[in-house]
Amino acid sequence: MSQSQKQGMLYLCATPIGNLSDITGRVLETLKSVDLIAAEDTRNSIKLLNHFDIKVPLVSYHEYNRYDRANELIEKMRQGADIALITDAGTPVISDPGEVITDMCRQAGIKVTSLPGPCALVTALSLSGLSARRFVFEGFLPADKKERRQVLGSLTDETRTIILYEAPHHLLSTLKELKEALSDREMALCRELTKKFEEVKRMKLSEAVIYYEENEPRGEYVLVIEGRSKEELRNEKIGHNRERDINEQMAEYEKQGLDRKEAMRKVASDRGVSRREVYKQLLENK
Ligand code: SAM
Repeated sequence: MSQSQKQGMLYLCATPIGNLSDITGRVLETLKSVDLIAAEDTRNSIKLLNHFDIKVPLVSYHEYNRYDRANELIEKMRQGADIALITDAGTPVISDPGEVITDMCRQAGIKVTSLPGPCALVTALSLSGLSARRFVFEGFLPADKKERRQVLGSLTDETRTIILYEAPHHLLSTLKELKEALSDREMALCRELTKKFEEVKRMKLSEAVIYYEENEPRGEYVLVIEGRSKEELRNEKIGHNRERDINEQMAEYEKQGLDRKEAMRKVASDRGVSRREVYKQLLENK
């Protein structure tokens, strides 16, 4: 390649999560014009490309070759090739191997752009009817038991709406673990999104466990779970603080440098009572 030859770039192309008509015009144009398409599962993607009569060469890019293949693809882009990355469904990088090549391109000084389109988590959240103002996306829970326990533990007091991906054969055991970690909550089980049998089931976590003990899960799922209510969390903290010794609580704040009046204000707020009540209790304890 001559020094003057232009470098190629990487196009992250979102593809449909079910309904083929959801492909965007820009993604179609790009897939037709690039030199190479890297796909997570070439057998799966060939169906999509055939449907749109796209005849560009295809190469695999998946979890098991993501570093080596990324290096090869970066070399091709250095030499001028434009490459599109598509994954099995939806937006590349979201819970799939696209993250690695994107960061490696950044490090290698290769330009990357993202062509937005379908994404299962956004589709599910918008359909769930649960609060979308603040949410946290966890993707698939980790398979490693210790890591999984840690993630579930970190979600116990999460007040934002929680979104998870899950495969059908793990659904029931995951629902049981979620019920254990989060106690009972409202949730939406979203499956077959954008497809003919699209379904959104709204129920409590406990009801979902019972339902899927009796009915076999089918298709890929997005779980959208209500965050913990701030009110409930606050009441629990208040309950916990009320059980504590009031003198110890005062001493803790005074040790932090607060004067007696400020410490009383803090203790009153922690216990959900008035400052006068704190004063009264302190006098009674003398
Ligand atoms: N990159 C994709 C995206 O943008 O959503 C996600 C890839 S991840 C490997 C696959 C998971 O997405 C599935 O296990 C399922 O949880 C969710 N998913 C994908 N398509 C879906 C659909 N049509 N209905 C429900 N969930 C879907």
